[in-house]
Amino acid sequence: MSPPHGSERDDEVPGPRGGPAHTHESEHARDPRSGVLRAAVFGAPDGLVSNLALVMGVAGGSGDASVVVLAGVAGLLAGAFSMAAGEYISMQTQREMLERELEVERKHIEDHPEAEQRHLAELLAENGIDEEDASRVAAQAHERTDRALEFHAQLELGIQPSSLGAPGAAALSSFGAFALGAAVPLLPWLVTRDALLATMLVSGLALLWVGAAATRFTQRSARYGAVRQLLVGALSAAVTFGVGSLISRL
Ligand SMILES: [Zn+2]
Repeated sequence: MSPPHGSERDDEVPGPRGGPAHTHESEHARDPRSGVLRAAVFGAPDGLVSNLALVMGVAGGSGDASVVVLAGVAGLLAGAFSMAAGEYISMQTQREMLERELEVERKHIEDHPEAEQRHLAELLAENGIDEEDASRVAAQAHERTDRALEFHAQLELGIQPSSLGAPGAAALSSFGAFALGAAVPLLPWLVTRDALLATMLVSGLALLWVGAAATRFTQRSARYGAVRQLLVGALSAAVTFGVGSLISRL
């Protein structure tokens, strides 16, 4: 069975505003909020697949619903903490790397103000500002080190010193998204002791939904994303269920 290929979504016609719009989007990629959004979009499918596989594995090996619930809750919390920690450390590390680059640039500006001002004027000219204006803007920017640093950071490093990402918010959002996804395969077991079928059903629907939702950020069609996510999740669950059943027979 092969997932449907290609995009159903009409390709957006690149109009005269296509270029500028793209530049704008790549700026948004550095927006601290995009870290939060990314964490949410990728955290939920992770929680769903991970806890579905865990719950199915335990269910395959034990008929005891309370054991399944215990494992499911532990899996939800362990996964959410791990995701949040990973997101926090990686964003914080990236932030520290950018801060170091900014420090190096600041030192350049302080140690060689005239050369850096000339360099900024050149960079502005390369970006289409005519030379006279470029030297005037560069001179104004270099009246204050902080302002000069903003210009140099944007034009040389492509970063904004004032928005280097929000590790705490991204970690929180990762935690919440993973927990939300992980709760789906767990919930039926809180309602009934015989929840195997219900778990597969609600998790299947949720997999389709998160898979489709993630394609909003890609060129793929929603159907492709949904089917791909369902296949990956179902395969993981089938494997752990099989292993659980095998272990219970040992
Ligand atoms: Zn510079």
